[in-house]
Amino acid sequence: MAFHGNGMIDPFGRAISYLRVSVTDRCDFRCTYCMAEDMTFLPKRDLLSLEELDRLCTVFIEKGVKKLRLTGGEPLVRKNIMHLVRQLSRHLESGALDELTLTTNGSQLSRFAAELADCGVKRINVSLDTLDADKFHAITRWGNLTKVMEGIDAAQAAGLKIKLNAVALKGFNDAELPDMLRWANGRGMDLTVIETMPMGEIDADRTDQYLPLSLLRADLERQFTLTDIPFKTGGPARYVEVAETGGRLGFITPMTHNFCESCNRVRLTCTGTLYMCLGQEDAADLRAPLRQSEGNELLSNAIDEAIGRKPKGHDFVIDRRTRRPAVSRHMSVTGG
Ligand code: SAM
Repeated sequence: MAFHGNGMIDPFGRAISYLRVSVTDRCDFRCTYCMAEDMTFLPKRDLLSLEELDRLCTVFIEKGVKKLRLTGGEPLVRKNIMHLVRQLSRHLESGALDELTLTTNGSQLSRFAAELADCGVKRINVSLDTLDADKFHAITRWGNLTKVMEGIDAAQAAGLKIKLNAVALKGFNDAELPDMLRWANGRGMDLTVIETMPMGEIDADRTDQYLPLSLLRADLERQFTLTDIPFKTGGPARYVEVAETGGRLGFITPMTHNFCESCNRVRLTCTGTLYMCLGQEDAADLRAPLRQSEGNELLSNAIDEAIGRKPKGHDFVIDRRTRRPAVSRHMSVTGG
């Protein structure tokens, strides 16, 4: 049951307070585990305008969302994205929203870091899978590590706190993760490692890439003293403190440890489709009720109805017998 205007509670009693918004499905990288090289993107006319995105987000905030994350695709390649960030920042000023943040590949960050900070953004996630320029170019297909490093420098100079996200990929970055951890913690950044999820068709075989984080943790524990801590940032990561670096390492384990019991999130795409679970196909169209009337009642009802269908969880499987992705859409559609 969802309570109108009084918070959104799903059928399993979980309060929905976190909205992730994919503002574009386009990206200036083509990470091999995320996208095929030859992707077909949505026609521009299907996208919600920035004003429509603002209106949708505002209704969610009125209904109890406290944390809002912009993602994509690459959020910073959406034209005029800072206009939306600026608009949304009024909810930080009013106190309705606790946190406005974004997940980015960092490629455009040097241009936008100062303005993000000026809009009240305090923390951002930067996705970075390797510190080696050649490997970086290989995994992103199109990316340039120097640009991302400039972006990280600019963000830190602007006072933004950064969490690095790295997808753990067998034979690609597993051996490098100890160095990445030292580097990230040494610069005052947390590092979170993520298990690769079977989302969308890609050119590679996911079975070859998949690295269970239980194995990675055991490996890291040969070099580092890791102590579980209750630290939370509102997402699914479980954190440890790293005695040797004095910093934190997070684990996001959708494959080996299902984290759905504490799920507080829903995900909105740039066409106004609401996914109640990252790993399920069920979705609700919010674009029609958004456009049907100038008032927000239809929209609010459609959101309540969708929250009332939020599933208990997902069930990702990666093995040699399960060749097909668990969901057909790519991570870039729903936003990571
Ligand atoms: N472009 C932004 C970025 O790079 O952070 C935001 C969108 S990207 C889809 C969000 C995150 O999802 C990135 O950290 C990316 O590495 C991760 N990701 C993409 N596909 C994934 C998959 N199949 N399994 C796990 N993580 C994935």
